[in-house]
Amino acid sequence: MNHAIIAYIGLGSNLAEPIAQIHAARAAIAQLHDVRELAISSLYQSVPMGPQDQPDYVNAVMSVQTSLTPMALLRALQAIETDQGRIRTGERWGARTLDLDVLLYGDQIIDLPDLTVPHVGISERAFVLYPLFEIAPQLVIPSKGPLTDLLAHCPYSGLTRLD
Ligand code: ATP
Ligand code: MG
Ligand code: MG
Repeated sequence: MNHAIIAYIGLGSNLAEPIAQIHAARAAIAQLHDVRELAISSLYQSVPMGPQDQPDYVNAVMSVQTSLTPMALLRALQAIETDQGRIRTGERWGARTLDLDVLLYGDQIIDLPDLTVPHVGISERAFVLYPLFEIAPQLVIPSKGPLTDLLAHCPYSGLTRLD
């Protein structure tokens, strides 16, 4: 792979057997052209953000090496969401079979109409920061600082490590 970048992807599901959804998504990501899996965190159960009348989530974070552009990676992840039955209802943070977010793309800061990187929620979401720490404890988040500093301000609440 030429010009490969390390990207971090957040995986989440709270419908239709979430653990199986996360495993299937991991396999689908690893099989994408020009994407190679580097590591995946443990799975975590988390209480939902936003609407509370929905099941708990299962979350994980995966690192990949990729030569896809950031937008090509986003589109490939959205295609996997659709393949796994995600229906976009328009409700913010509503229940879904699969959510795949680009958390980081190398050390790049990206501000496009359809893509903000680092991901908007990265600094305050426990279900992102704790799994990320498992696979990249030394990480420094562009414009936000060391992961360990973000963790120090993010309570381990509503989160349960599975496995
Ligand atoms: P959140 O982004 O707060 O986690 P969500 O994942 O539920 O919420 P989605 O419905 O999956 O939101 O995506 C809404 C839009 O967010 C998408 O159409 C996509 O273009 C945009 N988006 C912007 N930045 C990113 C990113 N880093 N990763 C994934 N989607 C992004
Ligand atoms: Mg999301
Ligand atoms: Mg999303």
